[in-house]
Amino acid sequence: MIEQPRFPQREAVDFVIIGSGSAGGILARELSVQGFKVVVLEQGRYRRTHEFTHDELSVMFNHEYVGGPLGGDPQTFRHDASEKAEVPDFPPAYYARMVGGSSVHFSANFWRLRPVDFKERSLLGAIDNADLADWPLDYDELEPYYTRVDWEIGVSGAPGPFDPPRSRPYPLPPMSVKSSGVLLEKGARELGLHPQVAPVAILSQPFNGRAPCIHCGFCMGFGCETGAKSSTLVTMIPQAEATGRCEIRSQCTVHRIETDARGRASEVLYYDAAGQEQGQRARVVIVAANGAETPRLLLMSASERFPDGLANGSGLVGRNLMFNAHSATYAWFDQPLHDYKSVQCSRIVHDFYDSDPKRGFYGGGAIDARPFLSASPMLYALTGMPPDTPRWGAGFKRDLAYGFTRSMMLAASTTSLAMDRNNITLDPELKDRFGRPAMRVTYNDHPHDLAMATFLQDWAERILDAAGAEKTWRKPVEPETVGAHLLGTCRMGDDPQRAVVDRYHRSHDVPNLFICDGSSMVTSGRGQPTMTIMALAFRAAHHIGEFARRGEI
Ligand SMILES: Cc1cc2nc3c(=O)[nH]c(=O)nc-3n(C[C@H](O)[C@H](O)[C@H](O)COP(=O)(O)OP(=O)(O)OC[C@H]3O[C@@H](n4cnc5c(N)ncnc54)[C@H](O)[C@@H]3O)c2cc1C
Ligand code: SF4
Repeated sequence: MIEQPRFPQREAVDFVIIGSGSAGGILARELSVQGFKVVVLEQGRYRRTHEFTHDELSVMFNHEYVGGPLGGDPQTFRHDASEKAEVPDFPPAYYARMVGGSSVHFSANFWRLRPVDFKERSLLGAIDNADLADWPLDYDELEPYYTRVDWEIGVSGAPGPFDPPRSRPYPLPPMSVKSSGVLLEKGARELGLHPQVAPVAILSQPFNGRAPCIHCGFCMGFGCETGAKSSTLVTMIPQAEATGRCEIRSQCTVHRIETDARGRASEVLYYDAAGQEQGQRARVVIVAANGAETPRLLLMSASERFPDGLANGSGLVGRNLMFNAHSATYAWFDQPLHDYKSVQCSRIVHDFYDSDPKRGFYGGGAIDARPFLSASPMLYALTGMPPDTPRWGAGFKRDLAYGFTRSMMLAASTTSLAMDRNNITLDPELKDRFGRPAMRVTYNDHPHDLAMATFLQDWAERILDAAGAEKTWRKPVEPETVGAHLLGTCRMGDDPQRAVVDRYHRSHDVPNLFICDGSSMVTSGRGQPTMTIMALAFRAAHHIGEFARRGEI
């Protein structure tokens, strides 16, 4: 076993990476493999796969992974700037704080963006009250990095009729179809749609020394005990550590990036596990703390030279937050489906991906079949039952026993438009346990996003009826109050007035500061952004390594 390095804090390492999640884990691996000395600062614990449990209480109810008020890091939420922001029970910016970040507990639905996603502003024109913009790169430029994600971390799937071009096939065959997938196929085909395999970042077969999925069903929100879920915890981080050049420093919460007299990032200040302030000097700083924590940290790093926050010359740090809108349609069937088992999704409908002006609103999305929260019994009892069933007593018990095995859901994931009014700012009053300003989330979906979510819900209900559902019901489509897709808050672009980072993720204002994570995305895609976040990280690491070797940082 290679001994882990302990880099001295007062000597500058080549790179400090803040955050070890979907993007940070890849950046750490790539840059350490390229020969650079890397320190990763991660606020969460370094858990190993054998520590993951199926304990609903600690994981889902006590928020063991996600923090929030119970973890000493409360967030506040409001729909718009006229409201007073309050602390909800559930953190509105929902992500996992641990080595591997949200890739450890995500559901692993894994789609690429399509060529259209990168150029919608040019194709569709402006949209009222939204800041729709083109990306500074296109699908062809990102495609080799999507393929690297497939083959480096392990993705199971099969091509579908509307998929964008790919230069290599999937490395692993699809997961077995679930009963909800069979029913989605049946209903969708009857309506003339084209259901397809749902690709997932989960191993259907052994791959690179890792065991395949054992279909335990505790996938969404939980860590995978077998390591079959392709998180950066089990893929990239061990490879980064194996270089002997990467130190993963866990339970280190960054609160400030310092700059020197030339306005360059010089040191990263953090609180260690004992709450003591520490600092790590670095030649280059990369922020990969996700679309909510990255802008919070940049805003906390304001100084005389950067009074509105670091890298915020455009004023866009924290702006244009996008969650991906959703809708949910539930059904009971008269036969047991046992959909709580295995991975969340096995089949999906992508017929509505493109925005269609004939609908009268912008947007596109997909419908997939899954148990969602009903995979775990307590959440099923609280959130998965039809609205007209009893909520206590013998009737409740009877319906629980009947419904748990017979339930499924069609989830629609859609676009979110970038809007200035949706943002991450620092709460002016509330502080976390270290005295850092709490994160304030302001969010209200664009009417087009709600219209698209409703459009997909109408189709979902039709599909379930065509599949022979005994009973269907809808969760009302309402503005979101929680987002697990945290996107757009430090967007990429060539124009320093209209973007925070350039096409290579370099800050327009601070030459040795790079930002690469969900915050870099210019548009939201139709849901499932993580494959794109990972592809962007592979691409960024390639270019950042080249800049460093050429002395251009
Ligand atoms: C329950 C759930 C299910 C999901 N399912 C899917 C899915 O099926 N498909 C999909 O595409 N996406 C899914 N997502 C979203 C996906 O997990 C994220 O899009 C993705 O992981 C974001 O990557 P990231 O690198 O931007 O941030 P993260 O993976 O969140 O990593 C950020 C890391 O930075 C650390 N950090 C933050 N601030 C600091 C600080 N100040 N100091 C030190 N460390 C810090 C965090 O602890 C974290 O480890 C899901 C998310 C959740 C919560
Ligand atoms: S369903 Fe499969 S991938 Fe998901 S947690 Fe269980 S074993 Fe891991």
